[in-house]
Amino acid sequence: MSAYGFDTLAIHAGARPDPATGARQTPIYQTTAYVFRDADHAAALFNLQEVGFIYSRLTNPTVSVLQERIATLEGGVGAVCCSSGHAAQIMALFPLMRPGCNVVASTRLYGGTYTQLTHTIRRFGWEAKFVDLDDLAALEAAIDGNTRAVFCESIANPGGYVTDIPAVAEVTRRAGVPLIVDNTSATPWLCRPLEQGADLVVHSTTKYLTGNGTVTGGCIVDSGKFDWSASGKFPSLSEPEVAYHGLRFHETFGPMAFTFHGIAVGLRDLGMTMAPTTAFQTLLGIETLSLRMERHVQNAEKVAAWLEARPEVEFVTYAGLPSSPYHDRAKRLYSKGAGALFTFALRGGYEACVRFVDAVELFSHVANLGDARSLIIHSASTTHRQLTPEQQIASGAAPNVVRLSIGIENVDDLIADLEQALVKAVG
Ligand SMILES: *Cc1c(COP(=O)(O)O)cnc(C)c1O
Repeated sequence: MSAYGFDTLAIHAGARPDPATGARQTPIYQTTAYVFRDADHAAALFNLQEVGFIYSRLTNPTVSVLQERIATLEGGVGAVCCSSGHAAQIMALFPLMRPGCNVVASTRLYGGTYTQLTHTIRRFGWEAKFVDLDDLAALEAAIDGNTRAVFCESIANPGGYVTDIPAVAEVTRRAGVPLIVDNTSATPWLCRPLEQGADLVVHSTTKYLTGNGTVTGGCIVDSGKFDWSASGKFPSLSEPEVAYHGLRFHETFGPMAFTFHGIAVGLRDLGMTMAPTTAFQTLLGIETLSLRMERHVQNAEKVAAWLEARPEVEFVTYAGLPSSPYHDRAKRLYSKGAGALFTFALRGGYEACVRFVDAVELFSHVANLGDARSLIIHSASTTHRQLTPEQQIASGAAPNVVRLSIGIENVDDLIADLEQALVKAVG
């Protein structure tokens, strides 16, 4: 299948006409359980000796098609879908971490991820250390004997920053820890982190992959290349699993170890399962991913250039603009553009930003991104509210900054809406 081009795979990967009915579109398998052929079949499934369907907390045929589709588009060997992007992050870390272990994460992250890593994971006895990934020496110094992963975003939310994944991957490879890249904002259409040296990719499928703001979902894709047995640091994958009669995932499943563990232990015990109707919606979305992303990027480039020339605007942080310090890096690593998520600073600070989000008419003021609709948010008063002002600035969500997620509408209409709102907000 993967000999086909990206646009073909976005429509066909993982799917085949339904064996029972010939249905051409992937059906929604709205069932909790699956009838075993006989007692031996049931035993083989429960022993992980045969791959099949037992119970929809673990596997479901509609969700399986989506898993194979995303794994193929990312160039991975397998994928596990789950209930949200945040669930995917926990599911990705879960097999790697133990109490006392840490993850080294980029300072430039989605606000919710920053909160999850700063506060919530501490309750599991895990810890996060944050470093500026432009400082590779600081990254290397932050990785210690208890580090089990490095985490970053490809195009970092709230936009304007692109991670040099090959350079970061070089450091993590030397240190013997896996690199996890959140590829939500770029999507595999713009960036395939596994080809650039990452070991695992996570997604909030809620965003561009679904593309219409209807369902929340997440996904973890494995490159299949990390050696989980080499260091003794990843016993969940390399050592006997008591709950499966002493089975060793890495020894038994090889490159599929992480994926099988994610389903057989992760979904089984954490239960962050994706619903089949959600998988169906996301499959429909991915069919048009290439067309949408092309328009998202075209529109974003035009809107960003227009904003940068306006007197009410102090600066625009979009790696697609020549003024961006990340312009060359984006050109090198993201050949089709720098995405459609960026921020700009308004003269008039916090107050002007609040007036601006109230004045837009076509843009929707929502805490979301990657919708066909254009979206706007003032991060400092919403998604990044829990952060200190210093953390807000470090993560690109300073009080005078507004974030745009540019949709696929007529770009002239978007610009007209921003123009009338600028006049109202700044005067
Ligand atoms: C939205 C988002 C998340 C969280 O995903 P949910 O589906 O909302 O749980 C994580 N990372 C990034 C970059 C996001 O945009």
